Amino acid sequence: MSNKTLNLTDKVYEYLLSVSLREPEVLKELRAETARMPGAQMQIAPEQGQFMALLIELIGARKTLEIGVYTGYSSLVVALALPADGSLVACDIDAKAPQIAQKYWQKAGVVDKIELRIAPALQTLDKLIAEDKAGSFDFAFIDADKEGYPNYYERCLILLRQGGLIAIDNTLRNGRVVAPALDDKATLAICALNEKLHHDERVSLSMIPIGDGLTLARKK
Ligand code: SAM
Ligand code: CA
Repeated sequence: MSNKTLNLTDKVYEYLLSVSLREPEVLKELRAETARMPGAQMQIAPEQGQFMALLIELIGARKTLEIGVYTGYSSLVVALALPADGSLVACDIDAKAPQIAQKYWQKAGVVDKIELRIAPALQTLDKLIAEDKAGSFDFAFIDADKEGYPNYYERCLILLRQGGLIAIDNTLRNGRVVAPALDDKATLAICALNEKLHHDERVSLSMIPIGDGLTLARKK
């Protein structure tokens, strides 16, 4: 027994997956296709995807946002968990990898729920605010360039309704957060955001040691 979070060995991790993972076939196929790509490690872990799907169900999310699409694993997870009238605005700066995403959204029958916006995410978020969408989203997943996170977080707070949830990925940076190198700007940005979030009274907070660290911030 332990009163601190278990340090997962490979065997315990395998066990966890073997008794809990329910990865739909289409997500398995997307994971296999992405595994052949150079940036494959950017994709979220399958158990994290399943956890995020549960979050979507728990908060009854309908309108959602994603910042950082890549080949679309997390966006597909979210879209599959949404009700039939749910929607996702998916932001990426790169047009290429999301072409793979679109193929799988189509295959899974959720392409009509997803609006892909190819542009710097900050631009898209500011545009949504200008389009009077503040306070209208239920859920946002932040998983793009780490130095952009502080801006994405602030914009998502504006765009979310009260009680809406922001999930922020890679907040443990493979452990590098405890001793970031001085030139590791991405990790330094995450460290600064983690510290800011710790004292941010606008949200309820929990940092989950799943995947590479997933911070949950619920707008009060
Ligand atoms: N969530 C994805 C998944 O589960 O497969 C992984 C996203 S990957 C870690 C990060 C993505 O952020 C990349 O596709 C990259 O093109 C995108 N990105 C980087 N800088 C960006 C920016 N300024 N605006 C929007 N997207 C950006
Ligand atoms: Ca990530």
